[in-house]
Amino acid sequence: MDVADVPGVPSWFADHLREGGIESLYPPQAEAVEAGVTTGDSLVASIPTASGKTLIAQLAMLSAVQRGGKALYIVPLRALASEKREEFSAFEEYGVEIGVSTGNYEDSGEWLSQKDIIVATSEKVDSLVRNGAPWIDDLDCVVSDEVHLVDDAQRGPTLEVTLAKLRRVNPNLQVVALSATVGNADEMAEWLDAELVDSDWRPIELRKGVHYGQALHFGDGSQSELRVKSSEKPTEAIVRHTLGEEGSTLVFVNSRRNAEGAAKRLANTTAGWLDGEEKRQLAELAEEIRDVSDTETSDDLADCVEKGAAFHHAGCASDHRSIVEDAFRDRLIKCVCATPTLAAGVNTPSRRVVVRDWRRYSGEAGGMKPLSVLEVHQMMGRAGRPGRDPYGEALLLANSHDELQELLDRYVWADPEPVHSKLAAEPAMRTHLLATIASGFADSRDALLEFLEGTLYATQSGESGQLDQVVDATLAYLERNDFIERDGRIEATNLGHTVSRLYLDPMSAAEIIDGLQHTGQSSAGRTTRRKPDADASAGEQPEPAGFQQASELDADDEAGVAMEQQTASDGSDDLSAFGLYHLVSRTPDMYELYLRSGDREEYTQVAYEREVEFCGAMPSEFEEERFDDWLAAVKTGLMLEDWADETDEDEIAEKYGVGPGDIRGKVDTAEWLLGAAESLASELDLTTVTQVREARKRVQHGVGEELIDLAGVRGVGRKRARRLFDAGIETRADLRNADKSVVLGALRGRRQTAENVLEAAGHQDASMEGVTPDADAQPVEDRGDGEDEAAGEDQSSLGDF
Ligand code: ADP
Repeated sequence: MDVADVPGVPSWFADHLREGGIESLYPPQAEAVEAGVTTGDSLVASIPTASGKTLIAQLAMLSAVQRGGKALYIVPLRALASEKREEFSAFEEYGVEIGVSTGNYEDSGEWLSQKDIIVATSEKVDSLVRNGAPWIDDLDCVVSDEVHLVDDAQRGPTLEVTLAKLRRVNPNLQVVALSATVGNADEMAEWLDAELVDSDWRPIELRKGVHYGQALHFGDGSQSELRVKSSEKPTEAIVRHTLGEEGSTLVFVNSRRNAEGAAKRLANTTAGWLDGEEKRQLAELAEEIRDVSDTETSDDLADCVEKGAAFHHAGCASDHRSIVEDAFRDRLIKCVCATPTLAAGVNTPSRRVVVRDWRRYSGEAGGMKPLSVLEVHQMMGRAGRPGRDPYGEALLLANSHDELQELLDRYVWADPEPVHSKLAAEPAMRTHLLATIASGFADSRDALLEFLEGTLYATQSGESGQLDQVVDATLAYLERNDFIERDGRIEATNLGHTVSRLYLDPMSAAEIIDGLQHTGQSSAGRTTRRKPDADASAGEQPEPAGFQQASELDADDEAGVAMEQQTASDGSDDLSAFGLYHLVSRTPDMYELYLRSGDREEYTQVAYEREVEFCGAMPSEFEEERFDDWLAAVKTGLMLEDWADETDEDEIAEKYGVGPGDIRGKVDTAEWLLGAAESLASELDLTTVTQVREARKRVQHGVGEELIDLAGVRGVGRKRARRLFDAGIETRADLRNADKSVVLGALRGRRQTAENVLEAAGHQDASMEGVTPDADAQPVEDRGDGEDEAAGEDQSSLGDF
């Protein structure tokens, strides 16, 4: 179908596509148009990676805008939101306004009501619905990208519920769901009352195969020679062979460590294939990478990139990741070793893909578990760049003839699995039922059940008996924690509204509230008694496991309650930042650090030494699972404490065995959870608000208490704040009136930085012209060698990764 023949889209669109080299629609795109995607019909498009799903989305959204409507594009990852934003920004010259919303959960996003196309993550859309963003009611078209992720235990339920809510608010809503090829696209179409385009067409041939011995064995039975030298591993041979054809290779492995190890080794292969200009550009890139953060990960990555290879995983800082992605797309980096994060949608095609590890460690399975066909096919789909490569090749590696056969059966010839709703999981139900009640979607048990009928879960579970049980258990939990009231109608309490608005798992909120109410609780009176169910006397059923009150403390008689209140007000004096970091770390909303072998002993000792600081009582060592969970939170809390105590990032990385991206992730989550704790404490009139706020600010900036003010000045950050402080500039006000030579000295002679910082602090004359740095103000670590630049560390502020 020629682009000019597409009905319903704005007249400029065909020319715009032609300018971008698109003359006619790909077959699945044409099928989508025939199914009515440009005339407002809902559609599920289940088609392979790189087969032009984005254009289907654009056709749907632009035709909705052409009809005077408004469209929403839901992405699974923040990184994709910016990528899509860039893609769609080309429409702005035709008067189509684009808005992106990924940030702060509490933002009601009113400014978005002016936009024609809005791009947001599913979490953000969920929170906008909860906060009653008015424009949600005006939506005409919603595109859900990578909708097969409803199968994801962590994030799937949010997407599923969000789509159900959007459809309920706007019964005529056009839903366009874009999916990888999955086993049950027809079921998804049934769920969304949508037309189905289910295709395995690809714009460029993808040859799937297995390397074994000295040859590639393809799914169609053909073979081609690929020799592995005796000194080489198969992956090295494949990368070398691909370089010989001027192609690049993407290698998928199963862990961060493996990604780093493989990249280091493969860098020795790529290094020999670089020309002078490439070497120069790569050296520049390596410098940029070193500047992102001062950790070993950063250095290791820079060392690889200098030689033309890179690793890419969730432990890398996001700036690292985007530098690597861009340079790989520009063909400057010849080989990227990645964990599957890169397969999830970021557009990085390469000539060859090697799925080196097809098993991954699974805590649930207690060992290595094969990847799903869907995951492996997603990775394989990254092979072949249309217009650049004649075809793409995706390879698995076998060590034996049996394994060759197994891999062909398991992945090359196999169809992807069906996707299954994960909504029945407890955290998902807790969170979404409370949100559904709080935002007024449902005010009775029946209404809730009716709402849930609109989910994939209901489509898949068939009979509703199970749904009833899960809903009843969840409602009982929410009521017992005072998040809802049942008095004929079901309503959220003020507390429940706050919890839902804060986007917390109700269990996290219960844990935080309970912890804040029991600060400074020593273990002297600790018992293993459970808090009895408040309604137990009313003869209610005991609660199912996992739905217990957060606290272990007794509150069953009036004396107990009185004592608790006593403790609550007394305890606030003892509330330490560590206690609060531990508290938020043990909520289900924080992904705790793993306990490695040997950690148990070490952190058990810390736990006893610092027991008085905990908010709430420590579980007994005999309750192994809860105790281990407590220890993992101790480890996470200590990491946050180190961060707030200004410990160097590389030292933290080393001590806890994490990457800079992990530190940033934990810090961000802690900042959010402590912000939530602050709101909860003020909602409940607890005396601890101030301490919570201070702990939040310290974690936010990664500084001690005395630096909070300074570190809050734009461009200052934790390291510069410390240097300024040591030079006698202790507050924002000091900085505003500071002697410029002292500032310049403390900031290691960097004039531009010093000017920016002074300007941000509101200094009357920020110019550094003619100012000489005060030698006494120089950071101690720089003195002696005379040249501050020689320290080689251009890390202005570690707060800004
Ligand atoms: P995916 O299905 O993985 O989302 P994309 O939408 O990113 O794939 O498309 C992959 C590439 O194909 C993009 O570079 C896009 O510009 C190009 N493309 C999409 N549709 C067409 C078309 N009809 N003709 C030529 N190129 C196209």
